[in-house]
Amino acid sequence: MDRPMASWEEGVVDLARKLHPDVDIADAGTRTDYYFLKTTAEPERSAMHDAMKQPGLYRTLNAVDGSFDAFQDMLDAGDEAFICSTPSLENPTCASDKLAWLDQRGGRQVTERSVLTFDKTIILGDALVDDKHEIHGAHTPTWEHVVYDSAYNQNTPGPRLRNWQTWRNQIDPIRRTPRNDFRSREQRPFTVVWDMDEPIVHWYDDIIRKTRADNPGIRIRPKEEHLRWELPSFLEPDELEAITRTMNTPGVYKDLTEVEGTRQAFFEMLDEGIEVFIGTASALDNPTCASDKLIWLNDNWGSDAAHRAVILQDKTILDADVLIDDKPKITGRFQPVWTHVVWDDPYNQQSPGPRMTDPRNWREIVYPLREKWEWERKQAA
Ligand SMILES: [Mg+2]
Repeated sequence: MDRPMASWEEGVVDLARKLHPDVDIADAGTRTDYYFLKTTAEPERSAMHDAMKQPGLYRTLNAVDGSFDAFQDMLDAGDEAFICSTPSLENPTCASDKLAWLDQRGGRQVTERSVLTFDKTIILGDALVDDKHEIHGAHTPTWEHVVYDSAYNQNTPGPRLRNWQTWRNQIDPIRRTPRNDFRSREQRPFTVVWDMDEPIVHWYDDIIRKTRADNPGIRIRPKEEHLRWELPSFLEPDELEAITRTMNTPGVYKDLTEVEGTRQAFFEMLDEGIEVFIGTASALDNPTCASDKLIWLNDNWGSDAAHRAVILQDKTILDADVLIDDKPKITGRFQPVWTHVVWDDPYNQQSPGPRMTDPRNWREIVYPLREKWEWERKQAA
């Protein structure tokens, strides 16, 4: 997103010049290091860094010429297209601003195709258009890197996109190449993704408690009476309106209370060599939800865990083996490659499949799935 779709460097340079008019700031497009903060001299370095951390920066960026048209053209051509972007933990509003920016420029249907992740290798795809000079992560990627031409990636091999008007020249050959679907599955570690609302934080109990406190005159039913997933299908109109108001309150996702035992399970999995990520949707009508989720993880579980967060609306794009999630039925643009482990809640009692009632017993559920995965890998080899 930054640089291929949003004029990030231009935006940072403009803001740095505005905030630090006395500092000499080089023009956008002249930096030959992807990580230019490491090679830029003071005081320019600090001025640029300061601009990068400013709340609101990511809302103000200009769209790169032709990027949204190309995105729509791909969808019209019958391709699946998603936007995959790395949020900044240093900028407190980056994640939410990126989603708001997509909403503004492309509409909700584009935002629903967004993935904010620090690791792009766990996202399934055939081609990734990216300006970064090299892209690594937990997995061998399923996609081919199409290099979005920039001053700092001139030595990166592979197909090269110079502007969006000619995207077919790079993408069509990849589409025509027969590919082993999701070939990386044989070459990567066993991977578990935890949903956040309910498995990690007490979403229902906290939202209900806050809604009751703010609306003493309205009956707000307890979680035990939530026997279905879709709130409008069973809540009274005033109850639904009150709960929706709470859900959309800025900051509410920063204050959710932690579920006991999941943090320990998460880090035990990592210790045992399992790749673990947190895959969570953003409440798109809450203007700070995405950023608040990252801040919550960073404050409560630490920066290692926050860097394992993936904020996305469609979890079927995840290249994982297990998804632990309370949603009764998880669908999206793809046939999932993971097994859904149902996080036990009143509204998912009809959901089939393995079920987690206590995260401290994660091995009872995950070990058999990993054994099956190892056996299947041996059969395929
Ligand atoms: Mg959930």
